[in-house]
Amino acid sequence: MSLSLQVAIGAALALAVAWAAWKTGALTGGGAVVAFFVGWATFGFGGAWWAVALLVFFFSSSGLSFLFQRHKQALSEKFSKGKRRDATQVLANGGLAALLAVVHRWMPSAPWVWAAFCGSLAAVNADTWGTEIGVLSKSPPRSILNGRSVPRGTSGAVSALGLSASLGGALLLGLVAATASPHPLAAGLAATVSGFLGAVFDSILGERWQATYFCPTCRTETEHHPLHTCGAPTQLIRGLRWLDNDVVNFAAALAGALLAAALYRLGGAA
Ligand SMILES: [Zn+2]
Repeated sequence: MSLSLQVAIGAALALAVAWAAWKTGALTGGGAVVAFFVGWATFGFGGAWWAVALLVFFFSSSGLSFLFQRHKQALSEKFSKGKRRDATQVLANGGLAALLAVVHRWMPSAPWVWAAFCGSLAAVNADTWGTEIGVLSKSPPRSILNGRSVPRGTSGAVSALGLSASLGGALLLGLVAATASPHPLAAGLAATVSGFLGAVFDSILGERWQATYFCPTCRTETEHHPLHTCGAPTQLIRGLRWLDNDVVNFAAALAGALLAAALYRLGGAA
């Protein structure tokens, strides 16, 4: 396929998906605009399999958010954003993947770029699956750093169910990575392992360094800032002010990409 035709088809496909995501409420208007550019770059510069990987991530994670939104509503107190993903969230989850598709166009004979791309999407998919399914866990979540039980919805908290879901989310991208790679085993393993570890890294960053606020009126911890849902100003009680959930997600995507590229090359499939 010529590049101009591929770029044109990519624009049409990205427009259709972004528009549908906005209409169904999966994305805000700003989120849909960013999703259009992420999808366009991914299909236009990467190609069909790159678009498949992105769509697998997008549909499986938005599908889970949609299925389990009732469970999450009870926790919306803790989470700073609603179920509609906004521009920053889309960029944090898919921005690096789109950039790697552009890198592929410059370096078409470097197969580690595909592994890195799938590793980045596997990490954000594993994180989303872990979060969406993990909230259904009957046993209370635990701190990933010291294993103690923590309140539901705490940043970085993990459960056996959530970790299993993360592994499933990473494995799904690993299967796509394997299907379209000249070295299926190396690519599949690299994407699955790095996606799962990327989500674990997300949990550690979330618990240890993510900005957490306190509402003095409701006497509760929250991600909401500068104002709580009740309207009162919130105060930083721990974590780094600039390290919000979006920065944590981007860091997980970056970790997944770097680790996948390294594992793929270690596997002898450079
Ligand atoms: Zn409050």
